[in-house]
Amino acid sequence: MENSCLFCRIVAGEIPATIVHRTASTVAFRDIDPKAPTHVLVIPVTHHANVIELAADPAAAADVLAAAAKVAELEGLDEGFRVIFNTGAHGGQEVFHVHAHVVGGAPLGPMLA
Ligand code: C5P
Repeated sequence: MENSCLFCRIVAGEIPATIVHRTASTVAFRDIDPKAPTHVLVIPVTHHANVIELAADPAAAADVLAAAAKVAELEGLDEGFRVIFNTGAHGGQEVFHVHAHVVGGAPLGPMLA
């Protein structure tokens, strides 16, 4: 855990979040500023700064993807959804603990702004 990391602190229960799914290795919680009817963030409990670091830990990466798929099932996103990893400055990443945005619940258009 990194004390200065917001999402590590959510994993530790130090900062409140609306958790929708949890496994031994992942936590999924509702985004505080949702961009779609369903907007859930899926994170590994271990600190990885971005998807590049996550990809270097295949077990954690697989767990995050499996949790994202489970969230889509739990949220009833039968018509489809997106899984997005914003990465770095050009990707618009603001929190440097990797997180998969699971967004859906309505047609999303050609790109999510
Ligand atoms: O991919 P990016 O780093 O830009 O996304 C960070 C996301 O974390 C934002 O969508 C923001 O609303 C969300 N967030 C949150 N809970 C917090 C702080 C940020 O859901 N306490």
